[in-house]
Amino acid sequence: MRKMATVRRIDELNPIEGADKIEVATVGGWKVVCQKGLYNVGDLAVYCEIDSFIPTAIAPFLTKEGHYPKTYEGVEGERLRTVKLRGQISQGLLLPFDVLRNAVVPLGADDDVSELLGIVKYEPPVSAQLAGVAKGNFPSQIPKTDQERCQNLKREIAAAVGNSFEVTEKLDGSSMTVYLLDGEFGVCSRNLNLKESEGNTFWRVARELDLENKMHAMGDNLAIQGELIGEGIQKNPYNIKGQEFHVYDIYDVNKGDYLGPNQVQGFCYLASLKHVPVIDAACILSETDTVDRLLELAEGKSILNSKTEREGLVFKSNNGGFTFKAISNTFLLKNGD
Ligand code: AMP
Ligand code: MN
Repeated sequence: MRKMATVRRIDELNPIEGADKIEVATVGGWKVVCQKGLYNVGDLAVYCEIDSFIPTAIAPFLTKEGHYPKTYEGVEGERLRTVKLRGQISQGLLLPFDVLRNAVVPLGADDDVSELLGIVKYEPPVSAQLAGVAKGNFPSQIPKTDQERCQNLKREIAAAVGNSFEVTEKLDGSSMTVYLLDGEFGVCSRNLNLKESEGNTFWRVARELDLENKMHAMGDNLAIQGELIGEGIQKNPYNIKGQEFHVYDIYDVNKGDYLGPNQVQGFCYLASLKHVPVIDAACILSETDTVDRLLELAEGKSILNSKTEREGLVFKSNNGGFTFKAISNTFLLKNGD
């Protein structure tokens, strides 16, 4: 699960041109604007990532004067988005270490303090067709889809210099998993195993693409994972008619491992399935690929629609294991996320 609020050390503090009350802190790969003079380099503080829903009780200053706080899951507060302040990008929120004064256990660097502070991840509402009805939990044999953001992986990325990565465009849709487990075919959204119904978009697309037969032809105990994009999903940024399923992973349940990027691309070709756009099949990470540089590379137009800002890039090691995402800050600023 994504850690929304963690204890972190402040790596850097830098002035913002033309601003005397605020400065910019660096925490790992993140830049966050804070009140000037409140922190020192090396201090422990609480860093909350974008998409956090912050209760008014711990940060009343987030609500603009003359406005009411928002309500999410019965709690009053505000959602953190990517913003630009005096020309400086700011992502998330820093809180003084002192907000943890009521903690009963001692806390140190990297500890997840989301629950303690009542901070949850904001999830935008989805339509009934997309939400569907659960048949059960997501199958425990299959990993849920996700990658960590590069801003949280400074050390790991530096350690991966010289390694080869598949770089794909990150599509802005909804995660979809189809599986064959002991001969039984199923369809899942990001978190749920879904009951088949005509009204459900995931199942409808799975039937349209004949995925059950395609999976039987492939072999048992496999899962195909991809992004469902198009009408009724997010804001359909690619302006697609209907929906499309773009594959990015295949998981072999018997082996307990993913197929390599080459095998996934090959399978998609043979099964006539769309693959997420490949930007570079074998990108060797170099010393100049710092987190800041990867964030620059994330910027650009989508391969699916040249008028659309792409969401970002996903890097997947060609030798298995390590994956991460670099989300475009231009995309985040435009989408108000
Ligand atoms: P997020 O959308 O920020 O939650 O990021 C993780 C999700 O990105 C995964 O769960 C996938 O559903 C989705 N995704 C979109 N495009 C890709 C891609 N090219 N490779 C891997 N995951 C992707
Ligand atoms: Mn997404």
